[in-house]
Amino acid sequence: MTTLHTLPIPRQTATAHEHAWVADSRHPTSEGVVVYVRCADCGTHRVDLQAHPLMPPSAISRETSD
Ligand SMILES: [Zn+2]
Repeated sequence: MTTLHTLPIPRQTATAHEHAWVADSRHPTSEGVVVYVRCADCGTHRVDLQAHPLMPPSAISRETSD
C-alpha cells in the first residue's frame, strides 16, 4: 500500500490489481440504488446495488473489461 515501485504481476491485467472503483452513475430503484462503477486504473466496469444508504454496495454483475 505504501510503495508505488512494485512490479506489476505479469498476468491477467483485469484481475491482477485491486480495482479503484469510481461511480459513473447512480440510479435509485425500488431495490435500492444501482451504482455503475468503473475502475479508474484498468477501465473494468461493474454494477453494484446499494440496498441501504448506510450499507456498502454489493456487486450484482460480473466485472467486464469493455
Ligand atoms: Zn482495475
